[in-house]
Amino acid sequence: MQVLGLLLGVVAVMQSAKVLIEAWSEYYTFLFAKNRFMPRSLSCLTSCGSIQAWRGTRRFVVIAKVKETADVMSFYLVPEDGKALPTFSAGQYIMLKLNIPNQKEIVTRCYSLSAGPNENHYRITVKRVADGIGSIFLIDNVHPGEVVHVTAPQGRFCLNPDSEKPVVLIAGGIGITPCLSMIDELTQEMQREIVLFYSMKSGKDHVRQNDLQALTDQFPQLRIITIYTSPDDTDILGLDYDGSDRLSIESLDAVLESTHYDFYVCGSKAMSDSVVNMLNEWGVPKESIHSEGFGGPAIAKPILMEAIPAKQVQESEAPKSPTVTFKKSNKTVTWNPAKENILNLAEENGVNVEAVCRSGNCGACQIGLLSGCVKYDQKSDESCDTKSCLPCIAIPVSDIVLNA
Ligand SMILES: Cc1cc2nc3c(=O)[nH]c(=O)nc-3n(C[C@H](O)[C@H](O)[C@H](O)COP(=O)(O)OP(=O)(O)OC[C@H]3O[C@@H](n4cnc5c(N)ncnc54)[C@H](O)[C@@H]3O)c2cc1C
Repeated sequence: MQVLGLLLGVVAVMQSAKVLIEAWSEYYTFLFAKNRFMPRSLSCLTSCGSIQAWRGTRRFVVIAKVKETADVMSFYLVPEDGKALPTFSAGQYIMLKLNIPNQKEIVTRCYSLSAGPNENHYRITVKRVADGIGSIFLIDNVHPGEVVHVTAPQGRFCLNPDSEKPVVLIAGGIGITPCLSMIDELTQEMQREIVLFYSMKSGKDHVRQNDLQALTDQFPQLRIITIYTSPDDTDILGLDYDGSDRLSIESLDAVLESTHYDFYVCGSKAMSDSVVNMLNEWGVPKESIHSEGFGGPAIAKPILMEAIPAKQVQESEAPKSPTVTFKKSNKTVTWNPAKENILNLAEENGVNVEAVCRSGNCGACQIGLLSGCVKYDQKSDESCDTKSCLPCIAIPVSDIVLNA
């Protein structure tokens, strides 16, 4: 009897232990899946641009398409091979390589990941651009169950992992996408103050309005200032939006206690540039300003990449007239500082170079530098011994030969 009692006791203890282990396991999975817990080692790995999860493209299946506004659609993507999804740094983007009927070449477009890292899927949020080849194809022709070819997350527009300063996010229109991801990441930390200035034309363009409202209810450290520059009759001041005036130093000053924040600015090139100028004028240190331009007719340069005024290059820095030889195309042309970068020079001379972000972020235009030296910005050293260069942000500082 005693032995039987002992055995029953052992079984009971083991069962309780099993229940406890299962409960913990479920809780862990819940925390992980809900983005509320990330092992420290994993979060370190994601520091901006430090890892490239795969080379070239990987096949992803569109598992869902969600209409955010009349013009904006989110796509939820999972890897077709079912293997683990590498994490990334909030703010980074992926490139989609689209095989579009009637297009001679594969169309490559960048899309910021619009949900926080460590989900079991990637989400991108795409705005329909009038006459846009890639955005219209994606929104109208790519459906759940279909495969898209995706590069690994990349880009330098991400939260500074070494800073604990409060954060200001400034989003213009669809520039909200990396900010959504950053808010997801930042709210995991629970303490850091976050202020989002989100500007758009009217309520028709308000992406994830309800979700953002729910986040401010859940996280008291998050404040959102919503600006509708041309509100509709149905938009209610004080409920849907906080004002119609464009962002100014006065409005920043009225909301923020000081300039002691990390600023992240994303929107069109024009918007991004003007906000960065405004922050400079307001006295925000350069290293606290991070920006990304989504392109359009003219594309933003990275904030730390100071353009060299053409006159200055001509007079003081570059040799009189370096030549640029495009070896594969069998063309040699004289450098013209007015072209601003080698990519523009190549395009003007009919040399085909694939270019996507045109701001030194995506690396798509990288070409072999067979001889000579280039320079990337006023302060950088000459780059002579590297085997390749990014023509979208490089200028020649000697005669150069490129493998293009
Ligand atoms: C790093 C990065 C991240 C990006 N993230 C996102 C994102 O999260 N969501 C998103 O919707 N887009 C994003 N973009 C923009 C996106 O890559 C495409 O440029 C955009 O979808 C338009 O491509 P398209 O093929 O439809 O237009 P295209 O066929 O390339 O262009 C058609 C016409 O529209 C103009 N045009 C092109 N792009 C724009 C634009 N953005 N605004 C206004 N006019 C334009 C062109 O000058 C041209 O006249 C991002 C861009 C970059 C560089």
